[in-house]
Amino acid sequence: MKNFYTLSIIILAGILTAGCAVNQGYLETSGLIDHEGAITMGGASYISLDQFCEQYELKCVVDKVSNVAELTKNQSSVKLMPDSNVTLINGAVRTFSPGTKSRDEEIYLPESLADYLLTSVFKPGPQEPYMEKPAIKRIVLDPGHGGRDPGAIGPRGLREKDVVLDVTKRLRDELIQRGAFEIVMTRDRDEFISLWKRSDIANKEKADLFISIHANAARSRKAKGFEVYFLSNATDDSARAIAAAENEAIMYEENGEQAKKPEHLDATIWDMQLSEFRDESQELAEFVCDTSSNELCLRNRGVKSARFYVLKGTRMPAILIEIGFISNREEEKKLRDSVFRQRVAGAIADGILKYNERFDKTEAFTKKAQ
Ligand SMILES: [Zn+2]
Repeated sequence: MKNFYTLSIIILAGILTAGCAVNQGYLETSGLIDHEGAITMGGASYISLDQFCEQYELKCVVDKVSNVAELTKNQSSVKLMPDSNVTLINGAVRTFSPGTKSRDEEIYLPESLADYLLTSVFKPGPQEPYMEKPAIKRIVLDPGHGGRDPGAIGPRGLREKDVVLDVTKRLRDELIQRGAFEIVMTRDRDEFISLWKRSDIANKEKADLFISIHANAARSRKAKGFEVYFLSNATDDSARAIAAAENEAIMYEENGEQAKKPEHLDATIWDMQLSEFRDESQELAEFVCDTSSNELCLRNRGVKSARFYVLKGTRMPAILIEIGFISNREEEKKLRDSVFRQRVAGAIADGILKYNERFDKTEAFTKKAQ
């Protein structure tokens, strides 16, 4: 009777306050939750995602590209995919059995998972009396390659690993001087760091932004310009080729390093993480691209998306910048010049500061800027 009573209040409250977030006490019924419209598949009881979200007033968005569903309520987020045992709960990977199913293009979740989410994840805790204003504080800067991996090498012998380290140090100094940021570098000397380790550092540091700095190489020595990438499945041939070249750094990893790779980089979780910060990453990429193309007399090749391994698994907006083509004689010459390197660093810092300004004005893009 108590269940029925509580549920009636929820439904009534839902009707009366449509659109508002309301905290109810339905979670006291742990283990006894009666899901409407549950069906049996393969011996287990399932409820459709639509039904689940409607019944418990969860916001649900399904990404059409990746099929990943994101459920949110009370500042908690759960991502799941059809026919999968894996979920991302507030960014952490959890596996469940039985997993989700799909039927008639709808995602179904097992009742055991539904109960768990209601009692442990979406519980209506007391409202935070004071919410800290979101702000970008810590930025992880990642100079590409290093150590036994030289990266691209220019026709006159300039090595990508050297030029990107120098530009990244200059960028670090610019950001510290011009903003109240805390900067963490994935490397600050000529040392090999595996690709997965770089995103792992950013996650462990709980960075607010991740910026990876590279210099391009192309088979055509004529190719030139500045490019900014964010992570996405949508890609074109030239972006795919560049991602493939940068991903080759993986060849320099030793067997032991592969074994230490954290589980969040497994292929099954790839799609879920992919959709996580895509919009913010694209926004950041656009700010950096705009300021850089204004500042540098380099051809602006625009914002592009591709599957860069180093961005994969980062739990924050993340971009990869190709500061020019080291394979192009003219650009190799520029990249050797310390004045030009300083301008590159300054231009990237401008873009990050503009993004930060926008982030503050819109309270992390949740509101319109005045
Ligand atoms: Zn590179």
